[in-house]
Amino acid sequence: MTRPVIFTLDLEDHRPDDTAEIRYPDRCRVALDFLDERRVTGTFFVVGEVAEAQPDLVREVADRGHELALHGWTHTHLTELEPRALAEQAVRGRALLEDLAGRSVTGFRAPTFSLVPSTVWATEVLVEQGFTYSSSVLAARNPLFGFPGAPRTPFLWPSGLAEFPAPLAGLGPFTVPYLGGTYLRLLPSPVVAVARRVFPPGPTPWTYLHPYDLDPDEPYWRVPDAGALSPLLWVGRRHMLGKLDRLLAQGAGVPLGEHLDDARRGGVFHPEAR
Ligand SMILES: [Zn+2]
Repeated sequence: MTRPVIFTLDLEDHRPDDTAEIRYPDRCRVALDFLDERRVTGTFFVVGEVAEAQPDLVREVADRGHELALHGWTHTHLTELEPRALAEQAVRGRALLEDLAGRSVTGFRAPTFSLVPSTVWATEVLVEQGFTYSSSVLAARNPLFGFPGAPRTPFLWPSGLAEFPAPLAGLGPFTVPYLGGTYLRLLPSPVVAVARRVFPPGPTPWTYLHPYDLDPDEPYWRVPDAGALSPLLWVGRRHMLGKLDRLLAQGAGVPLGEHLDDARRGGVFHPEAR
């Protein structure tokens, strides 16, 4: 059974430095208009510093019916944080987002899928800080961050936190989170459609994008984290909305926070037992 695709967006400030033009609020509103036209609501994972810099934008996201969730206070990988620092970031970020949304915020997405075997401690911290779910795992080997052996469909951590792993397609080292970001921009829509049939993504097939994925006119700069692949971050931006339109053509799912039962049905994953 193919479930409808769930829309998610990581609202972050992708700029080479503070002097570069701030383009993401405009691109975020392009996404909001696109979603309004299709009566789709999704989940926006917001970096705390972005919410502090652009409170009107983040309030607007919530007012237009979307779920707000946290994408860290800064865009720092979990591997760079101590438990106490994550706890402080989580409590601060959640409080700000709840203030802007006027409703509770319970979701978290680790920057760059950095919930990996060495950072499972974060799942305890997040529960202690009132979060009910995470969407932070890439359950395969990956040159950046991956968690080979983790379930590829929703599950619970021993702490009780629900996890919605990134939908994956491919074989061996070429297993990628194909439903969003750079992969969705690079892959032709018919290939994505075949991948969905060959590698059924389970009950919560979520797409993910960033404001820059919708910004074909951003002047090129070399993104250090991406290394030699940096130019790929600019490929296919002009066609991203068209691809999303095709992904959502058979209807769209509700925000991730409404799928906790799918994670409970997946049962508890004990990483230390592996
Ligand atoms: Zn991010």
